[in-house]
Amino acid sequence: MNLFELQAVRSLPDAVRAQALSPTAQQGATVRFIAGGTNLVDYMKLNVEQPTKLIDINSLPLAQIESTPDGGLKIGALARNADVANHAAVKSSFPVLSQALLSGASGQLRNFATTGGNLLQRTRCVYFRDVDANCNKREPGTGCAAIGGHNRNLAILGTSEHCIASNPSDQNVALMALDATVHVQGVAGTRAIPITELYLLPASTPDRETVLEPGDLVTHVTLPALPGGARSLYLKLRDRASYEFALASAAIVMKQDEAGAIDFIRVALGGVGTKPWRSPEAERALQGQRASAEAFTAAAEAALHDARPQSENGFKIELARRCLVHALTQCSRTA
Ligand code: SF4
Repeated sequence: MNLFELQAVRSLPDAVRAQALSPTAQQGATVRFIAGGTNLVDYMKLNVEQPTKLIDINSLPLAQIESTPDGGLKIGALARNADVANHAAVKSSFPVLSQALLSGASGQLRNFATTGGNLLQRTRCVYFRDVDANCNKREPGTGCAAIGGHNRNLAILGTSEHCIASNPSDQNVALMALDATVHVQGVAGTRAIPITELYLLPASTPDRETVLEPGDLVTHVTLPALPGGARSLYLKLRDRASYEFALASAAIVMKQDEAGAIDFIRVALGGVGTKPWRSPEAERALQGQRASAEAFTAAAEAALHDARPQSENGFKIELARRCLVHALTQCSRTA
């Protein structure tokens, strides 16, 4: 690990100013905000990330979790994953988020990891973590060792010839299905970014993962209220039962009318996409349909229609299909 400067800030304006005034901030992304540090410190130890300065934001008043008057929820960027997962309003109104968080990492990590940090969690591609390997995401223009290499855990949706890394987060798959909005404080003011617009596909610039600009600080996330009677669920499939990333996962929000037809549906997939993967194809296939094995199978076919497997991860197509069918079955009223 390299030497770096650590600056603690106590207010939001101080945090943004500290970023903006850092000479290195203008030269490149070598100044980082740090909260729980469960991802960033990991990568600093491996020399994958080499910031010259960390701005410690743990003293900022951004840890609240509160219901909004319209039945939605506001989650501060510094709210710890364990606190969000165990919050009464999350468990009762947005169980998909609680389930997703509790399926991730370990108890110790969930006690420290934050909502904002989890939003920006980086890939677990083994070549990204190895500074001796060719990796366009870590070092643009060097190639992608995962194509034709070890890619069992990597993506089958949204890949490019430059990068096939999967997004590892569980939280963010649930936030996709909940149609979250990410609120940001930047040098030029505040912005609200729909989570469906936060993440970028790798294309030819896999080093650029989100639309955030240097100096942007995530302050909180908001969730809109779900329609009355909606149910939600997160299902994660992985190599072992705990402390493991998803091979495939599904987040569902579903409401059926009195006759059993699906009149509200949101579907997101994890473990298979280069970003947390919302599936409008599956949602279109399900909207207005009665809950049935045939409808769920058709939705899963639609969701994986554009999947492009690599040398070791073709099994993920069928795994993700089955994961989605099972999650839809569990979430529906006929289950
Ligand atoms: Fe790097 Fe992406 Fe290729 Fe992994 S898949 S080696 S992160 S470019």
